[in-house]
Amino acid sequence: MTPRTRPDLETIPAYVPGRDFPGAIKLASNETTLGPLPSVLDAITDAAAGANRYPDNGSRVLPAALADFLGVDVATIAVGCGSVSLCQELVQATCDAGDEVVFAWRSFEAYPVVTQVAGAVAVKVPLTADYAHDLDAMAAAITDRTRVVFVCNPNNPTGRSLTRAEIDDFLAKVPEHVVVALDEAYFEYNRSDVDGIEIFRNRPNVVVLRTFSKAYGLAGVRVGYAVADPAIATTLGKVHIPFAVSTLAQAAALASLAATDELLARTDAVIAERDRVRDALLTAGYTVPQTAANFVYLPLGDRSADYAAAAEAEGLLLRPYGTDGVRVTVGDAHENDRFVAFACTDAALTLAGVPA
Ligand SMILES: *Cc1c(COP(=O)(O)O)cnc(C)c1O
Repeated sequence: MTPRTRPDLETIPAYVPGRDFPGAIKLASNETTLGPLPSVLDAITDAAAGANRYPDNGSRVLPAALADFLGVDVATIAVGCGSVSLCQELVQATCDAGDEVVFAWRSFEAYPVVTQVAGAVAVKVPLTADYAHDLDAMAAAITDRTRVVFVCNPNNPTGRSLTRAEIDDFLAKVPEHVVVALDEAYFEYNRSDVDGIEIFRNRPNVVVLRTFSKAYGLAGVRVGYAVADPAIATTLGKVHIPFAVSTLAQAAALASLAATDELLARTDAVIAERDRVRDALLTAGYTVPQTAANFVYLPLGDRSADYAAAAEAEGLLLRPYGTDGVRVTVGDAHENDRFVAFACTDAALTLAGVPA
């Protein structure tokens, strides 16, 4: 007899680690190609010398630095083991069994999982025909059971971003007791006037989620943060796994904040490369939605898996999404050249169904 686990978790697919092999060009996970800055590496190394001690829990130092950086009160900051854990904490902190969590689909793959793990019900609202959030439909999907709405801006995996007016119109329709999580994992790549922190200032039901994993290049050390009404931030702390943000992660985040200019300068190069890749794909005949993040999305439908497999055979790791599409992270120029060369082969164009 096997020990009993929750039967309702059986429908969550077991985690399948991303493929990897020596020499692979990794364009599947929206990481930066460049490694940590020397100053960040030094901070991590120094912090390692204190590894015998528990971390600063609910850490006072990092939230204070973040509050200073963002111009918000320290009581509004909650840090987490990557912002994915803050997504989980937010659902846990707001939802009883059967409560509803609304999000666009496709969007971040963690939303349905954290929802189901909390015993809540996922309400998936299809994207518009051009792969953006359908905010009218999302507002209409809110019921008296809705506790959280995730709005991923720019959207992972499609890259589409929302305007400030679109978000404001949407928020005006959301009841004040419903939390709207503005997931800004790709904020630093988005060259628009939309800044979740500014939106949060007038709206206590808005929670902004950000991470050091993407533009800050720290995916492997696991640290992100939420900016929320102090009452929500406090409740997040109650469901937080104690000491989940390691001393090394806190040190890396602090050193990265100190090097913000240098790190954010890197995003300009990624954006230039992104536009170059997208233009090359458009010229080749692909459909590529507008993107405000460090990736492009190819809506290849039921050809997605075959396309990603063909790329992998050429050493390129991409991220297929069922029968919806394939997401391709923008890497450095050399990596992107390799992808564009693959994408323009007759074999790839045929697989993608691009008209000759
Ligand atoms: C990558 C990502 C996150 C968070 O990643 P962490 O590594 O857990 O900080 C959150 N939301 C979206 C949409 C992402 O793509």
